[in-house]
Amino acid sequence: MPAHHPAPELLFDYAAGSLREVQALLVASHLAYCAECRRRVAELEACGGVLLEEVAAEPVSDGLLDAVLAKLADAPAALPPQPATPPPNGILPGPLHRALGGSMGGALDGVDWVRIVPGIHLSGWSLGVGTASACLLRMAAGASVPAHRHTDHEMLLVLTGAFSDEFGRYRVGDVASYDPDTPHHAVADRDGECVCLLVQDKPLVFTGALGWLLNRGFRF
Ligand SMILES: [Zn+2]
Repeated sequence: MPAHHPAPELLFDYAAGSLREVQALLVASHLAYCAECRRRVAELEACGGVLLEEVAAEPVSDGLLDAVLAKLADAPAALPPQPATPPPNGILPGPLHRALGGSMGGALDGVDWVRIVPGIHLSGWSLGVGTASACLLRMAAGASVPAHRHTDHEMLLVLTGAFSDEFGRYRVGDVASYDPDTPHHAVADRDGECVCLLVQDKPLVFTGALGWLLNRGFRF
């Protein structure tokens, strides 16, 4: 069972169908690993219809989201945890596999990787439109992503291996979320490579000594 989950607001927006496509892809992929969040989303979807009826006749207050989330946190589990649906081949969760059109057969063998710095690669493809995109991030054993910050939200979902940052350690199925302008520094475990689904709204801004070159698209 994952230890790091998407923020409650993300699950709420996911259940409401109002997440951007690539963010919804990451949440859906997390759900493939996480019975707890599947149950939470099922509850949100179940109460969504009731809420719609309730608020249809009244203006929606600013506190509605907080009130609903608090109510759900207090409520006993209405639905039993659903059985886990493990990724088809142990690597790519179903929603990600389908988003890629099944072209990779559910495995990572067919990915073309672009090296960013030694030990750090991004997939040659990315999904999404505009400034929101999803791609794969591959860290070699013990490799670290150059320090960087974001001008918007970034999320990582671990698909294989594990990594750590200033805030904790993340294993398969875990989600790391970074608020705008939060510098962070991911380091893969030393005993194996780590592959993550990376979702970001705007391009990375590298802040380390090599940042000036990396921010101009230079690749090592
Ligand atoms: Zn979860």
